[in-house]
Amino acid sequence: MLNNVKVVLVGTSHSGNIGSAARAMKVMGLTNLVLVDPKCEVDEQTMALAAGATDIVQNATVVHSLEEAVADCGLVVGSSARSRTLDWPMLESRECGVQLATESEKHPVALVFGRERTGLTNDELQTCQYHVCIPANPEYSSLNLAMAVQTLSYEVRMAFLERQKQDYSESDEDYPRHKELELFYQHLEKVITDTQFISRDKPNLVMNKMRRLFSRARPENQELNILRGVLTSIEKSVKSK
Ligand code: SAH
Repeated sequence: MLNNVKVVLVGTSHSGNIGSAARAMKVMGLTNLVLVDPKCEVDEQTMALAAGATDIVQNATVVHSLEEAVADCGLVVGSSARSRTLDWPMLESRECGVQLATESEKHPVALVFGRERTGLTNDELQTCQYHVCIPANPEYSSLNLAMAVQTLSYEVRMAFLERQKQDYSESDEDYPRHKELELFYQHLEKVITDTQFISRDKPNLVMNKMRRLFSRARPENQELNILRGVLTSIEKSVKSK
């Protein structure tokens, strides 16, 4: 899904920045680089600064306009060192990561970066649905282009990893429903009453502690099935004696 996140550099003028941006992307697992009307050539300096990410530079797409770069994207976020140049929907950088990571599961998304000296034009900013501003030192808030790419790519990666963790835990842990837990407690109570571990007239004390124990342990479906199996095996063994 990170392949669905495009990093779009508009009108870049320092060839080294393209290499550094490619490196910044690759370490965060992003691969899709788009150059809009670059004002420099991809040269030796680009490749030197890309280091192990020269493949990202070689596979970069070059287009003439921002429109063309983001035509297939369902979400376009423009980054700007100046917050609120236009009155436009803003995302915090963390939120921006979450939004891009989430939506990239469904369609291509773009994170757009401006020119080293002048950033994005108002027209370009208005092509974006949201703006994101890294909340840097208000007295000196303009990051180097590749470092802005690094910071926002990091946020995308963090959000991506968080989603993976959630997917894993959702699919892996399947918890019993309340009703099933109640059946288990009834079963447990019956068995330990039959074995005379608790007395029929005052079961509550032990059963309350049991409930507390199992609430803390939070057995998963499969574990609860095992516990039910254990209880059944005790019942059978008691009966046969
Ligand atoms: N002087 C320019 C700064 C350009 S820096 C300006 O005022 O806009 C080059 C690009 O890096 C910016 O266009 C933006 O895409 C990104 N960038 C730099 N600092 C940023 C910040 N604090 N938040 C978000 N993006 C930033």
